[in-house]
Amino acid sequence: MSARRRIRILLRYGWASPCSLIGLLLVPAVFLSGATVRVVAGTLEVAGGRIAAWISRLPHCLRFSAITFGHVILADNYASLAVHREHERVHVRQYERWGILFLPLYCGSSLIQLLQGRNPYLDNRFERQAREYKQSSKA
Ligand SMILES: [Zn+2]
Repeated sequence: MSARRRIRILLRYGWASPCSLIGLLLVPAVFLSGATVRVVAGTLEVAGGRIAAWISRLPHCLRFSAITFGHVILADNYASLAVHREHERVHVRQYERWGILFLPLYCGSSLIQLLQGRNPYLDNRFERQAREYKQSSKA
């Protein structure tokens, strides 16, 4: 691997690291609940344990099967993670592109959709991009 490529990788991880830190802060609690942690293709995948039970306590509009914070992907279980991995990896690339700006941009996109009477999750530009990428990669 060339030095230039290594620097690019370091910059991508560094730029996304404040968001990855949010996911990393959740890891000890989910790990102690029985979740397992794997390193897969440059991301930390965390699933199982009490994650599904904790997600079920969230308000219905905030529940998820998998969620990404930088290079950390959390999922209720590994079967769900297998289904959503490709989608979540698009979000990883979005974090690498937008870095610390990703979370406010994501929330802003949801707010704009909500104010325009659309679905703040399904119509969010980053979610649409993740779905479009997944569909185009299967074509
Ligand atoms: Zn998504």
